Amino acid sequence: MTKSALSTTFTIGVLALQGAFSEHIQLLRQATSTFNAAHTTEYQWQLLEVRTPEQLSRCDALIIPGGESTTISLVAARSGMLEPLREFVKVHRKSTWGTCAGLILLSESANRTKKGGQELIGGLDVRVNRNHFGRQTESFEAKLDLPFLEVPGVRQPREPFHSVFIRAPVVEKILPKREGIQLEEAEKSETVVAPSKHPKDDVARQAIKADVEIMARLPGNANALSKNEATAADVGEEGDIIAVRQGNVFATSFHPELTGDARIHGWWLGEVVKLVEQRRAVSI
Ligand code: GLN
Repeated sequence: MTKSALSTTFTIGVLALQGAFSEHIQLLRQATSTFNAAHTTEYQWQLLEVRTPEQLSRCDALIIPGGESTTISLVAARSGMLEPLREFVKVHRKSTWGTCAGLILLSESANRTKKGGQELIGGLDVRVNRNHFGRQTESFEAKLDLPFLEVPGVRQPREPFHSVFIRAPVVEKILPKREGIQLEEAEKSETVVAPSKHPKDDVARQAIKADVEIMARLPGNANALSKNEATAADVGEEGDIIAVRQGNVFATSFHPELTGDARIHGWWLGEVVKLVEQRRAVSI
């Protein structure tokens, strides 16, 4: 295959305040080379650990890793990153993917949180239930069937995605788009909400209109899955929501960065390219 002369550069940041950021960088490195091998355009990728507003301003897209959402939000607040992060996700509506603690931070509402103990970035119209699997099954592994990884035209059965859940949250409610929903959420006990922001331009306004899509569920029998006795497809029933997307924001309850499988990273890079190219076309 000959590569086209067109060269396109993308800067992908990983928020590096706390948690599993270096694992994400490693998998991004893998995913970018697989991505380039599969495309004729010569994409250039810059991968960046992000700790300052200046570094964030250079990013086309951002991953918020797993870790401890309370700590990440405290460090972000202290280092003057919280508002720039909200601008990035909710005003400019740039591509952002949160894993585990990252999902919590990207939610508009999170429960099991002491008031004042945690600030959210927001961007996803959902309420998450933190530490959903409780103490006994705090951490487990499961093989997931992720339909969005399907490669068009490829018929072989998909390899299940080996995923790790560590004191993981789930999406317990998709919030209706109506005035006052944030106030209603904020009135619930032990629930915090993200502050509202206005999108910056037409592309961002379009992104804010998008509905929340359920991208994956963990079928009810988490126990069987955790013992590696079944795949999600075997168990088959509807279960907890563990991956969602809304416009520019994607989030997973689990940690794809801890199992060495770069398929979700590869898929997400494709989503990033689409959104960035759409924005670049508008600003030409
Ligand atoms: N339970 C953690 C929190 O509330 C998230 C755990 C994780 O990212 N592995 O932030």
